[in-house]
Amino acid sequence: MREVSVSRISEALCQMFIEANRELSEDLEQCIRRSPQQESNPLGKSILQDICENLDAARQLNLPICQDTGMAVVFAEIGQEVHLTGGSFEQAVNEGVRRGYVEGLLRCSVVSDPLRRINTEDNTPAVLHTRIVPGDKVTLTACPKGFGSENMSRLKMFTPAADPRQIVDFVTETVRIAGGNPCPPLVLGVGIGGDFELCAQLAKKALCRPLDEPNSDPYYRQLEEDMLKAVNELKVGPQGFGGDVTALAVNIEPYATHIAGLPVAVNVGCHVTRHKKITI
Ligand code: SF4
Repeated sequence: MREVSVSRISEALCQMFIEANRELSEDLEQCIRRSPQQESNPLGKSILQDICENLDAARQLNLPICQDTGMAVVFAEIGQEVHLTGGSFEQAVNEGVRRGYVEGLLRCSVVSDPLRRINTEDNTPAVLHTRIVPGDKVTLTACPKGFGSENMSRLKMFTPAADPRQIVDFVTETVRIAGGNPCPPLVLGVGIGGDFELCAQLAKKALCRPLDEPNSDPYYRQLEEDMLKAVNELKVGPQGFGGDVTALAVNIEPYATHIAGLPVAVNVGCHVTRHKKITI
């Protein structure tokens, strides 16, 4: 049994949320830097150039890329041969989030109750998804999720008779309804299968797959390409002002489902779809 102190988890998450908010992952940054050449609308091109300048400014000034520093989503994969010591795992996760947002001077956007809406002032609690996996490592993925894009996300329970074309139409309809609200160009995470709640979680997990890592299943790789093409044909464009670059990527995460159902969830990610992953 390998011992891992929960203080290491707090420390790691603190740093990860600060860094994820200041610098995009290399794969997404490269996509954004290439995008002005792919845009024919002069206004869209100029917006994409502004987005590139904003990335440079955030890096030089050590500031967040966006004012919405997100709700703190954490995926944790804990090896079953790990013994976590020194306190509660969930408290350690929230301590890492608290320190990251307070010490990193990141905007605190979380309210303690969805209806009474009092700000917790430290961006806790996190949304935590934990899996027990083989091995003696702890893998953490930190995703600060902005709600301009989160609010545009949708889930639909299709019948099993639905064909892939209908799923592509649902994804494009989601982007059309969203318009400029989720700050395009977008990254779309699509969950297909599972049950109601797992499907939404799959969509969020899909947003964390690096954009330069192709889907390992050629069937879904093709479906991702079809969705990306259909979404870009909408011509919503950068920030919704029209143009060719509406989305940068579509990532699908499938899972087994029931014979009587076909859940599909679209988690809309903006041009600052942030995530950072480490293994302890
Ligand atoms: S949707 Fe994304 S880019 Fe727009 S305000 Fe929210 S975090 Fe920032």
